[in-house]
Amino acid sequence: MRQYSKDMDYNEAVLLTQELVRIPSHKDVEDRESKVAEFIYAYCKEKGLEVEYQVVEGKRRNVIARLRGNGTGKTLMLSGHIDTVPPYDMVYDDPYSGDIVDGHLLGRGCNDMKGAVACMITAMVNIKNKGKVLGGDIILAAVAGEEEKSDGTALVVKSGITADGAIEGEPSNYGYSLGHRGLEWIEIKFIGKRAHGATPELGINAISKASKFIQKVETDLMPKLKERKNDYMGPDIMNFGYIHGGNAPSFVADTCILQFDRRYTPGQTVDDVVKDYQDIIDELKAEDPEFNAEIIRMEENLMYDFDHAPLIPEPDSMIAKTVYKVLSQFTGKEPELMQRGWTDAGLLSTYGKIPTVVTGPGHIKWSHAKDEKIPVADLVNYVEIYTKIAEEFCK
Ligand SMILES: [Zn+2]
Repeated sequence: MRQYSKDMDYNEAVLLTQELVRIPSHKDVEDRESKVAEFIYAYCKEKGLEVEYQVVEGKRRNVIARLRGNGTGKTLMLSGHIDTVPPYDMVYDDPYSGDIVDGHLLGRGCNDMKGAVACMITAMVNIKNKGKVLGGDIILAAVAGEEEKSDGTALVVKSGITADGAIEGEPSNYGYSLGHRGLEWIEIKFIGKRAHGATPELGINAISKASKFIQKVETDLMPKLKERKNDYMGPDIMNFGYIHGGNAPSFVADTCILQFDRRYTPGQTVDDVVKDYQDIIDELKAEDPEFNAEIIRMEENLMYDFDHAPLIPEPDSMIAKTVYKVLSQFTGKEPELMQRGWTDAGLLSTYGKIPTVVTGPGHIKWSHAKDEKIPVADLVNYVEIYTKIAEEFCK
Protein backbone atom coordinates (compact mmCIF):
# COMPACT_ATOMS: atom_id res chain seq x y z
CA MET A 1 0.00 0.00 0.00
CA ARG A 2 2.67 2.49 0.98
CA GLN A 3 4.60 3.62 -2.02
CA TYR A 4 7.65 5.79 -2.22
CA SER A 5 10.74 5.84 -4.33
CA LYS A 6 13.88 4.53 -2.66
CA ASP A 7 16.17 7.35 -3.78
CA MET A 8 14.79 9.88 -1.33
CA ASP A 9 14.96 10.15 2.37
CA TYR A 10 11.44 9.68 3.69
CA ASN A 11 10.27 9.76 7.21
CA GLU A 12 7.17 8.90 9.09
CA ALA A 13 5.46 12.25 8.38
CA VAL A 14 5.48 11.52 4.65
CA LEU A 15 3.97 8.08 5.13
CA LEU A 16 1.41 9.47 7.56
CA THR A 17 0.46 12.25 5.12
CA GLN A 18 -0.13 9.59 2.46
CA GLU A 19 -2.39 7.65 4.81
CA LEU A 20 -4.37 10.76 5.73
CA VAL A 21 -4.77 11.89 2.10
CA ARG A 22 -6.13 8.45 1.19
CA ILE A 23 -9.09 8.96 3.55
CA PRO A 24 -11.48 11.45 1.89
CA SER A 25 -12.75 13.98 4.44
CA HIS A 26 -14.79 16.66 2.75
CA LYS A 27 -18.34 17.90 3.15
CA ASP A 28 -19.84 15.46 0.63
CA VAL A 29 -18.47 12.34 2.35
CA GLU A 30 -20.78 10.61 4.83
CA ASP A 31 -19.90 11.86 8.34
CA ARG A 32 -17.34 14.08 6.64
CA GLU A 33 -13.99 13.98 8.43
CA SER A 34 -14.96 11.26 10.93
CA LYS A 35 -12.87 8.48 9.34
CA VAL A 36 -9.72 10.55 9.35
CA ALA A 37 -10.35 11.45 12.99
CA GLU A 38 -10.61 7.74 13.80
CA PHE A 39 -7.35 7.08 11.99
CA ILE A 40 -5.51 9.84 13.86
CA TYR A 41 -6.95 8.72 17.19
CA ALA A 42 -5.76 5.14 16.64
CA TYR A 43 -2.37 6.27 15.33
CA CYS A 44 -1.68 8.55 18.30
CA LYS A 45 -2.79 5.87 20.74
CA GLU A 46 -0.52 3.30 19.12
CA LYS A 47 2.41 5.73 19.38
CA GLY A 48 1.77 6.23 23.08
CA LEU A 49 0.29 9.73 23.10
CA GLU A 50 -2.60 10.55 25.42
CA VAL A 51 -5.59 10.98 23.15
CA GLU A 52 -9.27 11.87 23.36
CA TYR A 53 -12.15 12.82 21.10
CA GLN A 54 -14.32 15.89 21.27
CA VAL A 55 -17.71 15.37 19.66
CA VAL A 56 -18.47 18.20 17.26
CA GLU A 57 -21.72 16.79 15.90
CA GLY A 58 -22.84 13.15 15.51
CA LYS A 59 -19.81 11.15 14.39
CA ARG A 60 -17.83 14.27 13.58
CA ARG A 61 -15.05 14.71 16.10
CA ASN A 62 -11.88 16.62 16.93
CA VAL A 63 -8.91 14.58 18.09
CA ILE A 64 -6.98 16.03 21.00
CA ALA A 65 -3.62 14.38 21.67
CA ARG A 66 -1.25 15.31 24.45
CA LEU A 67 2.36 14.81 25.29
CA ARG A 68 2.68 15.79 28.93
CA GLY A 69 5.59 17.79 30.27
CA ASN A 70 6.73 17.87 33.89
CA GLY A 71 4.63 20.95 34.65
CA THR A 72 7.44 23.48 34.82
CA GLY A 73 7.25 24.92 31.29
CA LYS A 74 4.89 26.55 28.86
CA THR A 75 2.13 24.63 27.06
CA LEU A 76 2.11 24.64 23.27
CA MET A 77 -0.91 23.91 21.10
CA LEU A 78 -0.39 22.56 17.59
CA SER A 79 -3.55 23.10 15.58
CA GLY A 80 -4.54 21.76 12.18
CA HIS A 81 -7.78 20.91 10.41
CA ILE A 82 -8.49 17.41 9.12
CA ASP A 83 -11.30 18.28 6.71
CA THR A 84 -10.57 19.32 3.14
CA VAL A 85 -12.47 20.87 0.28
CA PRO A 86 -14.02 18.39 -2.21
CA PRO A 87 -11.85 17.29 -5.15
CA TYR A 88 -13.94 19.30 -7.66
CA ASP A 89 -12.10 19.29 -11.01
CA MET A 90 -8.74 17.96 -9.86
CA VAL A 91 -6.37 16.99 -12.62
CA TYR A 92 -5.35 13.66 -11.07
CA ASP A 93 -7.09 10.39 -12.01
CA ASP A 94 -7.27 9.60 -8.31
CA PRO A 95 -7.51 12.73 -6.15
CA TYR A 96 -6.70 10.63 -3.06
CA SER A 97 -3.67 8.69 -4.32
CA GLY A 98 -1.04 10.24 -2.06
CA ASP A 99 1.41 9.31 -4.83
CA ILE A 100 4.82 10.88 -4.85
CA VAL A 101 5.89 12.33 -8.20
CA ASP A 102 8.93 14.52 -8.77
CA GLY A 103 9.47 15.18 -5.08
CA HIS A 104 5.86 16.15 -4.41
CA LEU A 105 3.13 14.24 -2.62
CA LEU A 106 -0.16 14.60 -4.52
CA GLY A 107 -3.79 14.65 -3.54
CA ARG A 108 -6.65 16.60 -2.07
CA GLY A 109 -5.78 17.87 1.38
CA CYS A 110 -2.05 17.08 1.32
CA ASN A 111 -1.18 20.80 1.40
CA ASP A 112 -4.32 22.08 3.13
CA MET A 113 -3.51 20.64 5.56
CA LYS A 114 -3.07 16.98 6.31
CA GLY A 115 0.67 17.32 5.73
CA ALA A 116 0.93 19.79 8.59
CA VAL A 117 -1.11 17.56 10.89
CA ALA A 118 1.20 14.64 10.03
CA CYS A 119 4.26 16.78 10.81
CA MET A 120 2.77 17.84 14.16
CA ILE A 121 2.01 14.28 15.20
CA THR A 122 5.42 13.06 14.05
CA ALA A 123 7.17 15.85 15.97
CA MET A 124 5.29 14.87 19.14
CA VAL A 125 6.11 11.19 18.68
CA ASN A 126 9.78 12.02 18.01
CA ILE A 127 10.04 14.11 21.16
CA LYS A 128 8.39 11.33 23.14
CA ASN A 129 10.74 8.72 21.68
CA LYS A 130 13.80 10.77 22.55
CA GLY A 131 12.80 10.09 26.15
CA LYS A 132 13.36 13.65 27.30
CA VAL A 133 10.40 15.13 29.17
CA LEU A 134 9.83 18.80 28.36
CA GLY A 135 8.70 21.36 30.91
CA GLY A 136 5.32 22.05 29.32
CA ASP A 137 2.68 19.99 27.54
CA ILE A 138 2.27 19.77 23.79
CA ILE A 139 -1.36 19.53 22.74
CA LEU A 140 -2.39 18.51 19.25
CA ALA A 141 -5.78 19.86 18.17
CA ALA A 142 -6.67 17.97 14.98
CA VAL A 143 -9.94 19.68 14.23
CA ALA A 144 -13.03 19.22 12.09
CA GLY A 145 -14.84 21.63 9.87
CA GLU A 146 -12.42 24.46 9.06
CA GLU A 147 -13.45 24.55 5.41
CA GLU A 148 -17.05 25.15 6.46
CA LYS A 149 -17.86 26.90 9.73
CA SER A 150 -14.80 26.12 11.84
CA ASP A 151 -17.01 24.35 14.32
CA GLY A 152 -14.04 22.13 15.29
CA THR A 153 -11.82 24.91 16.58
CA ALA A 154 -14.82 26.73 18.00
CA LEU A 155 -15.39 23.62 20.14
CA VAL A 156 -11.73 23.46 21.20
CA VAL A 157 -11.98 27.03 22.46
CA LYS A 158 -15.40 26.51 24.03
CA SER A 159 -14.19 23.39 25.83
CA GLY A 160 -11.63 25.49 27.67
CA ILE A 161 -8.50 23.79 26.34
CA THR A 162 -5.85 26.45 26.51
CA ALA A 163 -2.13 26.97 25.99
CA ASP A 164 0.54 29.64 26.36
CA GLY A 165 1.05 29.73 22.62
CA ALA A 166 -0.28 28.03 19.51
CA ILE A 167 0.86 27.18 16.02
CA GLU A 168 -1.72 27.01 13.24
CA GLY A 169 -0.07 24.86 10.57
CA GLU A 170 -1.56 26.31 7.38
CA PRO A 171 0.92 26.26 4.47
CA SER A 172 3.46 29.07 4.74
CA ASN A 173 6.45 28.11 2.59
CA TYR A 174 8.92 28.57 5.51
CA GLY A 175 7.41 31.96 6.30
CA TYR A 176 4.95 32.84 9.06
CA SER A 177 2.00 35.08 9.82
CA LEU A 178 1.37 36.92 13.04
CA GLY A 179 -1.99 38.34 12.08
CA HIS A 180 -4.83 38.17 9.63
CA ARG A 181 -8.14 39.92 9.12
CA GLY A 182 -11.51 38.85 10.46
CA LEU A 183 -14.04 37.68 7.90
CA GLU A 184 -17.74 38.44 7.64
CA TRP A 185 -20.20 37.50 4.91
CA ILE A 186 -23.04 39.94 4.54
CA GLU A 187 -26.26 39.76 2.57
CA ILE A 188 -28.39 42.76 1.74
CA LYS A 189 -31.94 42.40 0.59
CA PHE A 190 -33.26 45.33 -1.46
CA ILE A 191 -37.01 45.55 -1.43
CA GLY A 192 -38.91 47.08 -4.32
CA LYS A 193 -42.40 46.83 -5.72
CA ARG A 194 -43.39 44.64 -8.64
CA ALA A 195 -45.09 46.17 -11.68
CA HIS A 196 -45.44 45.37 -15.36
CA GLY A 197 -42.49 46.29 -17.53
CA ALA A 198 -44.80 48.48 -19.62
CA THR A 199 -45.56 50.65 -16.59
CA PRO A 200 -42.30 50.86 -14.63
CA GLU A 201 -43.44 54.09 -12.97
CA LEU A 202 -45.94 52.03 -10.94
CA GLY A 203 -43.19 49.90 -9.39
CA ILE A 204 -40.00 50.31 -7.40
CA ASN A 205 -37.01 48.65 -9.00
CA ALA A 206 -34.94 46.76 -6.44
CA ILE A 207 -32.11 46.20 -8.94
CA SER A 208 -31.76 49.95 -9.45
CA LYS A 209 -31.71 50.45 -5.67
CA ALA A 210 -28.97 47.82 -5.33
CA SER A 211 -26.98 49.64 -7.96
CA LYS A 212 -27.26 52.89 -5.98
CA PHE A 213 -26.01 51.09 -2.90
CA ILE A 214 -23.05 49.53 -4.73
CA GLN A 215 -22.02 52.88 -6.13
CA LYS A 216 -22.25 54.58 -2.75
CA VAL A 217 -20.15 51.83 -1.14
CA GLU A 218 -17.53 52.31 -3.83
CA THR A 219 -17.37 56.09 -3.55
CA ASP A 220 -17.96 56.64 0.17
CA LEU A 221 -16.90 53.50 2.05
CA MET A 222 -14.12 51.86 0.07
CA PRO A 223 -11.70 54.80 0.45
CA LYS A 224 -12.28 54.65 4.23
CA LEU A 225 -11.53 50.92 4.29
CA LYS A 226 -8.15 51.55 2.66
CA GLU A 227 -7.29 53.81 5.60
CA ARG A 228 -7.92 51.09 8.16
CA LYS A 229 -4.48 49.57 7.77
CA ASN A 230 -2.71 47.06 9.93
CA ASP A 231 1.00 46.35 9.51
CA TYR A 232 0.51 42.60 9.73
CA MET A 233 -2.44 42.22 7.37
CA GLY A 234 -2.89 45.31 5.24
CA PRO A 235 -6.13 47.35 5.06
CA ASP A 236 -9.78 46.33 5.37
CA ILE A 237 -11.03 44.91 2.09
CA MET A 238 -14.35 43.86 0.62
CA ASN A 239 -15.64 42.17 -2.50
CA PHE A 240 -19.10 41.97 -4.06
CA GLY A 241 -19.45 38.26 -4.71
CA TYR A 242 -23.04 37.51 -5.72
CA ILE A 243 -26.12 39.33 -6.92
CA HIS A 244 -29.56 38.14 -7.92
CA GLY A 245 -32.60 40.23 -8.59
CA GLY A 246 -35.98 40.21 -10.29
CA ASN A 247 -37.84 37.47 -12.16
CA ALA A 248 -38.06 38.31 -15.83
CA PRO A 249 -37.29 41.11 -18.30
CA SER A 250 -40.92 42.21 -18.37
CA PHE A 251 -41.32 42.85 -14.64
CA VAL A 252 -40.06 45.58 -12.39
CA ALA A 253 -37.77 43.71 -9.99
CA ASP A 254 -39.36 43.57 -6.55
CA THR A 255 -36.32 42.13 -4.79
CA CYS A 256 -32.59 42.02 -5.23
CA ILE A 257 -30.11 40.07 -3.11
CA LEU A 258 -26.49 41.16 -2.86
CA GLN A 259 -23.87 39.16 -1.00
CA PHE A 260 -20.35 40.24 -0.21
CA ASP A 261 -17.32 39.41 1.77
CA ARG A 262 -15.78 41.89 4.15
CA ARG A 263 -12.37 41.37 5.73
CA TYR A 264 -11.70 43.60 8.70
CA THR A 265 -8.68 44.53 10.77
CA PRO A 266 -8.51 44.20 14.59
CA GLY A 267 -10.15 46.88 16.70
CA GLN A 268 -13.46 46.47 14.88
CA THR A 269 -16.28 44.15 15.83
CA VAL A 270 -18.86 42.59 13.53
CA ASP A 271 -21.31 45.21 14.81
CA ASP A 272 -18.94 47.94 13.61
CA VAL A 273 -18.67 46.23 10.24
CA VAL A 274 -22.46 45.93 9.87
CA LYS A 275 -22.82 49.58 10.88
CA ASP A 276 -20.66 50.64 7.89
CA TYR A 277 -23.38 49.30 5.59
CA GLN A 278 -26.34 50.31 7.74
CA ASP A 279 -25.10 53.91 7.64
CA ILE A 280 -25.07 53.82 3.84
CA ILE A 281 -28.58 52.33 3.78
CA ASP A 282 -29.77 55.06 6.17
CA GLU A 283 -28.25 57.80 4.03
CA LEU A 284 -29.85 56.40 0.90
CA LYS A 285 -33.19 56.14 2.68
CA ALA A 286 -32.92 59.79 3.69
CA GLU A 287 -32.24 60.82 0.07
CA ASP A 288 -34.78 58.52 -1.52
CA PRO A 289 -38.04 57.59 0.24
CA GLU A 290 -38.47 54.57 -2.04
CA PHE A 291 -35.14 53.06 -1.01
CA ASN A 292 -35.66 50.05 1.26
CA ALA A 293 -33.06 47.48 2.22
CA GLU A 294 -32.20 45.22 5.11
CA ILE A 295 -28.96 43.60 6.22
CA ILE A 296 -28.96 39.88 6.89
CA ARG A 297 -26.11 38.12 8.69
CA MET A 298 -25.39 35.04 6.63
CA GLU A 299 -25.82 31.72 8.37
CA GLU A 300 -22.32 30.62 7.29
CA ASN A 301 -20.80 33.13 9.70
CA LEU A 302 -22.21 31.60 12.79
CA MET A 303 -20.40 29.04 14.94
CA TYR A 304 -21.83 28.94 18.42
CA ASP A 305 -21.48 32.54 19.48
CA PHE A 306 -18.17 33.16 17.69
CA ASP A 307 -17.46 35.32 14.68
CA HIS A 308 -14.68 34.71 12.14
CA ALA A 309 -12.55 37.05 14.19
CA PRO A 310 -9.07 38.35 13.28
CA LEU A 311 -5.78 36.78 14.31
CA ILE A 312 -4.47 39.50 16.59
CA PRO A 313 -0.73 40.06 16.11
CA GLU A 314 1.36 39.58 19.24
CA PRO A 315 4.90 40.13 17.94
CA ASP A 316 6.35 40.22 21.46
CA SER A 317 4.81 36.94 22.55
CA MET A 318 7.04 34.02 23.37
CA ILE A 319 5.53 31.94 20.55
CA ALA A 320 6.17 34.68 17.96
CA LYS A 321 9.79 35.00 19.09
CA THR A 322 10.30 31.24 19.14
CA VAL A 323 8.88 30.73 15.64
CA TYR A 324 11.00 33.56 14.28
CA LYS A 325 14.15 32.15 15.88
CA VAL A 326 13.58 28.58 14.71
CA LEU A 327 12.61 29.55 11.14
CA SER A 328 15.56 31.90 10.74
CA GLN A 329 18.00 29.34 12.11
CA PHE A 330 16.52 26.56 10.03
CA THR A 331 16.43 28.43 6.73
CA GLY A 332 19.53 30.57 7.34
CA LYS A 333 17.67 33.71 6.29
CA GLU A 334 15.03 36.19 7.36
CA PRO A 335 11.72 34.31 7.24
CA GLU A 336 8.97 36.01 5.26
CA LEU A 337 6.28 37.68 7.37
CA MET A 338 3.22 36.83 5.29
CA GLN A 339 -0.23 38.34 4.92
CA ARG A 340 -2.91 35.73 4.46
CA GLY A 341 -6.63 34.91 4.49
CA TRP A 342 -8.67 33.75 7.45
CA THR A 343 -7.66 30.67 9.44
CA ASP A 344 -8.73 28.95 12.67
CA ALA A 345 -5.97 30.98 14.35
CA GLY A 346 -8.52 33.82 14.52
CA LEU A 347 -10.60 31.82 16.98
CA LEU A 348 -7.64 30.65 19.08
CA SER A 349 -6.39 34.22 19.26
CA THR A 350 -9.57 36.28 19.75
CA TYR A 351 -11.70 33.89 21.82
CA GLY A 352 -9.12 31.48 23.24
CA LYS A 353 -6.77 34.37 24.11
CA ILE A 354 -3.86 32.20 22.95
CA PRO A 355 -1.05 34.05 21.15
CA THR A 356 -0.96 32.21 17.83
CA VAL A 357 1.38 32.11 14.86
CA VAL A 358 0.63 30.53 11.49
CA THR A 359 3.40 28.44 9.99
CA GLY A 360 3.26 25.13 8.16
CA PRO A 361 4.61 23.04 5.31
CA GLY A 362 3.57 23.63 1.73
CA HIS A 363 2.57 26.71 -0.20
CA ILE A 364 -0.76 28.52 -0.19
CA LYS A 365 -0.88 28.38 -4.02
CA TRP A 366 -1.61 24.62 -3.83
CA SER A 367 -4.47 24.91 -1.33
CA HIS A 368 -7.83 24.08 -2.97
CA ALA A 369 -5.93 23.81 -6.29
CA LYS A 370 -6.68 21.44 -9.17
CA ASP A 371 -3.18 20.05 -8.76
CA GLU A 372 -2.91 20.14 -4.97
CA LYS A 373 0.53 18.91 -3.92
CA ILE A 374 3.18 19.42 -1.26
CA PRO A 375 6.95 19.10 -1.48
CA VAL A 376 8.09 15.99 0.36
CA ALA A 377 11.05 18.02 1.62
CA ASP A 378 8.65 20.41 3.38
CA LEU A 379 7.12 17.53 5.29
CA VAL A 380 10.49 16.26 6.43
CA ASN A 381 11.69 19.77 7.30
CA TYR A 382 8.57 20.78 9.18
CA VAL A 383 8.87 17.80 11.50
CA GLU A 384 12.18 19.28 12.53
CA ILE A 385 10.81 22.85 12.65
CA TYR A 386 7.86 21.87 14.86
CA THR A 387 10.14 19.73 17.03
CA LYS A 388 12.54 22.65 17.55
CA ILE A 389 9.69 25.09 18.25
CA ALA A 390 8.24 22.71 20.85
CA GLU A 391 11.59 22.00 22.51
CA GLU A 392 12.39 25.70 22.71
CA PHE A 393 8.91 26.86 23.78
CA CYS A 394 8.08 24.12 26.28
CA LYS A 395 11.57 23.65 27.76
ZN1 LIG B 1 -6.68 25.04 5.45
